[in-house]
Amino acid sequence: NLGSSLRGTLDNLRGKSRISEEDIEDIVKEIQRSLLQADVDVALVQELSNNIKTRALEEDPPAGTTPRDWVLRIVYEELVELVGESTDLPLEEQTIMLAGLYGSGKTTTAAKMAWWFSTKGLRPAIIQTDTDRPGAYDQSKEMAERAEVDFYGDPDEDDPVKIARDGLEATEEADVRIVDTAGRDGLNEELIEQIERIEDEVQPDRDLLVLDAAMGQSAKSQAADFQEAIGIDGVVITKLDGTAKGGGALAAVDETDSTIAFLGSGETVKDIERFEPSGFISRLLGMGDLKQLTERVERAMQETGEDEDDWDPEQMLEGSFTLKDMRKQMETMNNMGPLDQVMDMIPGLGGGLMDQLPDDAMDVTQERMRDFDVIMDSMTEEELENPRIIGQERTERICAGSGKPEERVRELLEQHKQMSQMLKQFQGMGDGDMERMMKQ
Ligand code: GDP
Ligand code: MG
Repeated sequence: NLGSSLRGTLDNLRGKSRISEEDIEDIVKEIQRSLLQADVDVALVQELSNNIKTRALEEDPPAGTTPRDWVLRIVYEELVELVGESTDLPLEEQTIMLAGLYGSGKTTTAAKMAWWFSTKGLRPAIIQTDTDRPGAYDQSKEMAERAEVDFYGDPDEDDPVKIARDGLEATEEADVRIVDTAGRDGLNEELIEQIERIEDEVQPDRDLLVLDAAMGQSAKSQAADFQEAIGIDGVVITKLDGTAKGGGALAAVDETDSTIAFLGSGETVKDIERFEPSGFISRLLGMGDLKQLTERVERAMQETGEDEDDWDPEQMLEGSFTLKDMRKQMETMNNMGPLDQVMDMIPGLGGGLMDQLPDDAMDVTQERMRDFDVIMDSMTEEELENPRIIGQERTERICAGSGKPEERVRELLEQHKQMSQMLKQFQGMGDGDMERMMKQ
């Protein structure tokens, strides 16, 4: 698993007072492997590698920052530089035109985006100008209904420019008009000429290029052609629910000097999310969210006034897990956010792993946490170290002492049992198991 070997390499930097050129080489190599496997263009990977190497060797960590954290920060910043920020999409009246090859996901994306804008309180409309694909009208109309948004199309008209013109008129009441266009098996002059004419008519505020995540090296030349014809302001990557990581799209982003606007990950109108660099980076590398992890740990440490050694999410995966550990984590977690989100951010534990756990393993509400805290105050040191010794008699004593019902005490013990089983499960996983899981 790529994520876990990168994590291993980063772990090797722990406690080092100086990071050598060789250390940097190792990290860069791991990142290169991950990115190339995710279809990121070789030239882009090379540029990223050079930037990381130069910065890591030339820049000194600021006072109070460990060399490992500093390298992590450089790596993260350069990865953000590679994937870019999210395309700016003000929540105001606008017309957006979608372009892309046949089957890239334009029609689906039009409905998804319309749905997304509707959740922001805007009134969207879809204008369907595809006169080539049989069934495009029905498909689009049906998806617009599912997204509960306005729709304009004309199955009897065969001039897409006229449909666009009529569509703009018919959807005047809408705030956001999304113009869907036809695609082809490949880019040809006819398509280019047609989309130029539609663009002239529509005068969109934004042209978005829709790309299939599985799009490899051809993304670059395709993007160049669309860029020349209509100018591309942003990219949408679709089908990220499949095995492809979407790295190929970065070449299109680079080529068009644009950014990524949305990610699509399914066939329903709700399977859309705004692009966000750190999540996408995690996906590319196949590891948890580095940025959020470092930020949250830092924040939690500031709030509890504890130093780093007191709560280390990676350490949580090693050694035995006592009630004391659980308590310490509950305290920190209180400052960090829900456990499942925290677990998602630990490098190597992301992906579908959380979905395999019982729902209530993660259900530590604030109220239960407070009760658990009071209950643990009534426990002996021995009980906190080894909760298995707590039988009926001890439970009754703890209840009397804490004033909490037996049921709560049992919940606490059950919670601890589930969490330690969960951690054992993680510890028991060899690299091979991890790899299989990440591939699922
Ligand atoms: P268009 O030709 O560019 O308009 O592409 P469509 O929107 O018609 O999509 C082509 C096919 O890909 C359809 O079967 C869609 O259901 C499917 N599709 C589109 N986006 C996604 C996605 O994000 N995930 C998955 N799994 N399928 C998608
Ligand atoms: Mg279509």
